[in-house]
Parts: sequence; C-alpha cells; structure tokens
Amino acid sequence: MSKTWPDNIARKAVLGFKPYSARGGATNALHLDANESPWAPPPVTQTGGFNRYPEQQPAALIARLADLYGVKPAQIMAGRGADEAIEVLLRTFCEAGQDSILTCPPTFGYFETCAAIQGAQTLLAPLRADFSYDGDLIAAEIRSAGRGLKIVFLCSPNNPTGHVIEPNIVTDLCQEFPEILIVIDEAYAEFSSADSFACQINQYPNLVVLRTLSKAYSLAGARMGVAIADPRVINLMLKVLPPYPIARPVEQAVMAALTPAAMPVHEARLKLWKSERTRMAKALSASSYVTKIYPSEANFLLLDIVEDEALLRALGKYQVKIRDFRQTLPGKMRVSIGSPQENDIALSAFGVEVKVVRPARTAEAHRKTKETDIAVRVNLDDAAGTKIDTGIGFYDHMLEALAKHGGFGLVLSCQGDLEIDAHHTIEDCALALGTALSRALGDKAGAGRFGFTMPLLKPLLMPMDETQAQVAIDLSGRPSMTFKGAFPTDHAGDFPAEMCPHFFESLSQTLGASIQIDVEGDNTHHMIEACFKGVGRALAPAFKREGTDIASTKGVL
Ligand code: PMP
Repeated sequence: MSKTWPDNIARKAVLGFKPYSARGGATNALHLDANESPWAPPPVTQTGGFNRYPEQQPAALIARLADLYGVKPAQIMAGRGADEAIEVLLRTFCEAGQDSILTCPPTFGYFETCAAIQGAQTLLAPLRADFSYDGDLIAAEIRSAGRGLKIVFLCSPNNPTGHVIEPNIVTDLCQEFPEILIVIDEAYAEFSSADSFACQINQYPNLVVLRTLSKAYSLAGARMGVAIADPRVINLMLKVLPPYPIARPVEQAVMAALTPAAMPVHEARLKLWKSERTRMAKALSASSYVTKIYPSEANFLLLDIVEDEALLRALGKYQVKIRDFRQTLPGKMRVSIGSPQENDIALSAFGVEVKVVRPARTAEAHRKTKETDIAVRVNLDDAAGTKIDTGIGFYDHMLEALAKHGGFGLVLSCQGDLEIDAHHTIEDCALALGTALSRALGDKAGAGRFGFTMPLLKPLLMPMDETQAQVAIDLSGRPSMTFKGAFPTDHAGDFPAEMCPHFFESLSQTLGASIQIDVEGDNTHHMIEACFKGVGRALAPAFKREGTDIASTKGVL
C-alpha cells in the first residue's frame, strides 16, 4: 500500500481543487451567511429547520448509520441511495478517456452506466455458467488491465442472479491488488445469511462496501445509501459529493425508520420476506411458464421462462409487472418478493393454483415521544415469533404470557425513560399494543368479540396457586375497565403493582374494549400474572375468526 493512498489513484482534478465551502446545518448564531430565508415555509408547524441548508453529512444520521452497520462514523459517506455512492466513486477515481472499472456480468447495470457517463471503460470478468464468481478470472483480468483499472465492482448478493460471493475471493483480491478499489455492493445483504464485508474495512484500506436503505428498510423513495470504507477514501469522496445531498425530510424519515425500537420489527418483516421467498420458489416450480428457479439470497428470484409472450399476457391481465431480462439474458425474468397477498396474485398470474386463505391479521404501531420509543407488531393468526424487550424484566414476562395465552404473535420493543420510573414504559406499551391489536382486528368481521367462559356468560376463571382471577372481555369499541383486587405488596420484581390495573386501563382505551378483572390472592406476583394470563385467555376467543359475521346487531363494532 502506497504511503499516499488513496491520492495515488484519485483523479488529478479531485486532488487539485479545494472542496466547495458552504455552511450546512444551523448553530445558535444569527445566520446571515447562506442567503437563506429567515422564515419556515408554511405550514409553519411541521417544517422545523427547512429554511436552513442541511449539513453535507448530518452528524446524528451518520452516527446512527455507523451504529447500524457496525463501523465508525469516519468510515461512512451517506448519499442519495447506493446509486450516488457508485456515481461518486467513478467521479473521484476514474479519469475520463483513460481509466476503467471491472464488473462481473450479469450484474447490476448501473456500474457500467456510471462508468460510461464518466468516460471510463468497463472491463468484464463474467460469472461462471452457474453464476458463481470466478476469482481466478477476475484476478487474471485485473493483471492484464494494467494501471488504468481503478475499481472492481462485485455485487453480493448479486442482482439479478441472487448469488453471494465466496468471502476468500474478496479478501484475496484486496490483498493481491492493494492499489485498486474492491467495491462490494451489498444492496441486498439483509436478505442473505452471509456476513457483511463491512466488518473487514479496518483490515483492507482498498475495500469499499455499499449498503442501501431502499430495500430491507423500505426507504426507496427517501433515497439513502452509504459507502463504507477507509476514512481516507471517504474523505476524497466527500470532496466530490455535492454540498447538500441529504434533504432534511429525508434525514427525518430515515431516523424515524431506524429508531432503535423499530429494529425488531424490521427483523420480523425480514423473516416473513425470507419465508415468502422460500414459498414463492416452491410454488413457482409448479408453473408451466417456469423451467428453472435460481437459488437466491436476495428479495427476488431469477427465473428461466418458456412461452414468455403468453406469460407476459397473463401478467398483464393481473396487472403484475416483473423484470424482463430477455434482451441481455435470453429466456430470463426476475420477480421481486412482495407481501403474502401480492405474491398470491403473482402466483395466480403464473398459473399456479393458490389455496385461498384469508390474509393473516397483522398490524404494527410505532409510537415515539420524549418519554418512550416503541414499536409493536402483532399477528392475530400466528402465535409464532414473539419477542419482547421493554427493559422491565417482569413486564416482558407478563406481555409474553398475554400473547401466549391470547394466541397471537407479538414483537414489542421499547426504549423508555426507566431512569425516571417504569410508569411511562408500561403505560405507553399498553397504548401501542392496543393500537396494533385494534388495527389488526380491522372491522372485526368474523371475530368472536367476547371472552368469558361459555355458555353461561360467566367470567373466565384463571387459577394460579392460591390466586384466582376472573376476567371478561368485550371488543365492543367502547373502552372501559373495571378492576377489583388489592395487592399485598407494592411491587412484583421491577413492576409496580399499581401499574397492573393501569396497564389494562390503557390497553382498553386503544383496543376499544371493555375489560373486567376481579382478582383475589395472597401473592402479588401470582395475582398480576393471573390477570395477564386471564386476559390473554379471554382475548383468544374474542380474537378468533370464523366466517365474516360482525358480532353486533349494529352491524359495526
Ligand atoms: N446496487 C444494487 C445491486 C441494486 O440493485 C440497486 C437498486 N436496484 C442499487 C445498488 C441502488 O440502490 P439505491 O436505491 O440505494 O440507490
């Protein structure tokens, strides 16, 4: 590695010019330095800071992204999607009419497009017939290319094939060619079980990893992606990046989507995404249009297609669009993995018979205040995958019991102001949970509505050692809560006993339910646990869906 790395491979113009200097962000000073407006644009209430230019790299955003990818802030350049990172790499390192990049087709076309725009040549080291990377071929092409080759773009999982690269190909290239940038485009990394190369940035000053928030984090419309690399490489790229690439609303959207409490919800979505990929691969093998499905570690499947025109007509009938690669990859098309319902429509278009099942009643609620940051995801029709973390051990245990006995799946994560006390966390989680459950119930068509012991409309009896809790529930849409019981002590573990009735009061408000509880016992832990289990057992029949009837003479609930 040269002492002047990476200046020795950068474009001369980039080394020569002074970066455009302009203030971004705002301090407490009176800012008359950037010809901005002193007034917020209307509507005045929602546009804090919009009249001021943003920082080139907003510090809080960079810190969050560094944490997300497990690297240091100085190792990150954030821009408008991974696309902008590719553009900036070309503009920083490739001299027009002189330098080149290397790619491994079939792969993401934008590498070559950016090279063409910059006036750089694209050299090719194609994937093998099975779409695996040929490390020897790549190395041989680099050796014969000479000094003008500046960047090798490798994509893993690769778009459009879905294959991942063997890690030793990357590390061998980084070692053998220390003065060439080895760029790994990991736009689809979250869908793969392979480790990210981001953790190897410290070892290899010529390694660059690209990540995006467009796919796994649902932010394609916000435009946010990063390059992760040695700080010296990042500093050069920041000279070329425009002064204000990240609009304030984009920063706000990204920070909201990446709020720590939301991470378990992203994980739950990814799990569903991957299971849908498996289901789609299996189901599509029954389609008469599909002769081969390539294994994929991304959120798409590459397919070999026959009777392509007939398939396109069928897709048109269902208004489903898939990516047609026939011009560059004969007989191949790529289908993205959508939601279960979207995938069912796609399967119908492919002529695959799908068992008509009612979509699972899933919903999310996200609630962020100065006191708590909460994300909840529920599935009323699948109890698997429950994961709870509120920071209060006893409360986690109770919520788990509620979900288990209620027969619903619950992902709930909260970062609350426990340094004050447990009140805000317990109350706000109850409110968010009720909101998510209410959203999942929708119009409550087919739902049982009531929870008690049949047939005499008696409250449900929940025994626990010496304790007995009686519970009755009505998902009437009218919030109310009655609680009878006196706890012998004021806490169970780290959970204040007075918060037990308050939890159910808060839950009833956002769930829109009448909850009645009467508990007797000698042990506070037993009594609180019996209440949560009992309400869970009562919710199970109230949530259970059979048919489509709305259980009310009013016709609405
Ligand atoms: N790399 C690959 C391999 C991609 O498929 C895409 C988008 N299709 C990108 C990068 C660009 O992503 P972004 O939305 O972050 O610009």
